[in-house]
Amino acid sequence: MVSRVIPVDTFDLVIFGGTGDLARRKILPGLFRRFCAGQMPEDARVIGAARAEMSADEYRSFVADAIREFGGGKSCDDGTLEAFQARLEYVTVDAMGDDGWPEMVKLMDGRDVVRAYYFSVAPSLFGDLASRLHKWELTNDQTRIVVEKPFGRDLVTAKALNASLAEHFDESQIYRIDHYLGKETVQNLMAVRFGNMLFEPLWNSQYVDHIQITVAETVGVGGRGDYYDRSGAMRDMVQNHLMQLLCLIAMEPPSKFDPDAVRDEKLKVIRALDPVAPHHVVRGQYDASGDGPGYREAVEDPRSRTESYVAMKVGISNWRWAGTPFYLRTGKRLVTRSSEISVVFKELNHSIFGEKQDHRNTLSIRLQPNEGITLNVTIKEPGPGGMRLVDVPLDMTFAEALGEDAEDPPDAYERLIMDVIRGNQTLFMRGDEVEAAWAWTDPIIAGWEARGDVPKPYESGSSGPGDAVQMLARDTRVWREVKP
Ligand code: NAD
Repeated sequence: MVSRVIPVDTFDLVIFGGTGDLARRKILPGLFRRFCAGQMPEDARVIGAARAEMSADEYRSFVADAIREFGGGKSCDDGTLEAFQARLEYVTVDAMGDDGWPEMVKLMDGRDVVRAYYFSVAPSLFGDLASRLHKWELTNDQTRIVVEKPFGRDLVTAKALNASLAEHFDESQIYRIDHYLGKETVQNLMAVRFGNMLFEPLWNSQYVDHIQITVAETVGVGGRGDYYDRSGAMRDMVQNHLMQLLCLIAMEPPSKFDPDAVRDEKLKVIRALDPVAPHHVVRGQYDASGDGPGYREAVEDPRSRTESYVAMKVGISNWRWAGTPFYLRTGKRLVTRSSEISVVFKELNHSIFGEKQDHRNTLSIRLQPNEGITLNVTIKEPGPGGMRLVDVPLDMTFAEALGEDAEDPPDAYERLIMDVIRGNQTLFMRGDEVEAAWAWTDPIIAGWEARGDVPKPYESGSSGPGDAVQMLARDTRVWREVKP
């Protein structure tokens, strides 16, 4: 299959925080891979903007190092890297003052191209950057801003952030990134749901027993202890990533694949979520077993009550889903790194093959590692000796079926940045979605605080607290095994 690269308009992409960790690990290597794929127009530029004093040449070396360290893809030879370096500029700028802004104006002057400003800085600087871009007249009618998570820590702060951006930018110019939405398989989930006759008629509480969404990590909080301890798994993962996945699974078919049509449907799901009863949530915190420090050691607070794990049973009160539970879980220092959504269909209501056998169809959408979609179906076990049934996976692994393109799909950041340049907001969160998600999350967190809830310790390298297993056992269900 021939690789297809869809051309985009010429652009200037300014990365505020262009020397930071996220820029080094994700944004810059991702842009380089798009450059290698031939998707960066000849006149397009990438401009680093940060506090560090550095010349453009020093920045070019800094970026080359980042690309060598964090992966440039197949064509990372020195010639290609040099050609990419020629597209880079750098400005030392202070988001909170006036230093560097006249230089930025000079650099952008006279260029009537798409202007994308990536706010890869602490959220406390979002408002400062928005107002300075406006004050220094750095916006044109093709300006977009990209903002990173965390988008607030509760409803009040999210509303304040939205308001500070809305003072200077229209909602159609604001791209709130959730990189989970940029994953190939997440988009494929929509293709499978809405591009086939097969699934949609069964996609409801009449046929679906329950749905599981798991995002398991093996790493601990690492060097992010300070940030994480003020956040926890609920704020860091559930409110955004797991919620977005749940929305895509649960939403009604949008009338077309268009940004507002899709986001309207996602919003309706969030608004239909039931409040979560305390006994439908399990919080956990990894202990010091295994290698590496326990959570409290890692965050240097022996009394921390922040959860590094959360599992919950969530209900959606609407016609399609009433009665079908969604089980969500996410945590750090678990036995394996794996993100998966599983749609578990109901048992047959009558088996013509004699004794009752638990054969269920399950559709598994695997986000990492080894992205792919598998449908478990029941067939006859081959050979003589009667009718024995066996479950086999129908593997929709993309690489085999689709060839080269599927083997090396763009990483989530690459895809999302190119969507920003194209002006396509479908895979970005709208302000009202983020607020609705906080409005649902806040009372859960407030309940923990009011009750002085202490997370259950769990062994590092395990599959989490036993209470999470019990929570499903009460419903006569089990978590799907988290496979490496
Ligand atoms: P970082 O601390 O590594 O980098 C911060 C950057 O901001 C630096 O380039 C610094 O020079 C710049 N900066 C700080 N103050 C400034 C000022 N006054 N004026 C101009 N520039 C200033 O942070 P990071 O890890 O790259 O994270 C950036 C943003 O992305 C944060 O909002 C973070 O929550 C979010 N994020 C990061 C990751 C990640 O993996 N690092 C993942 C998801 C989201």
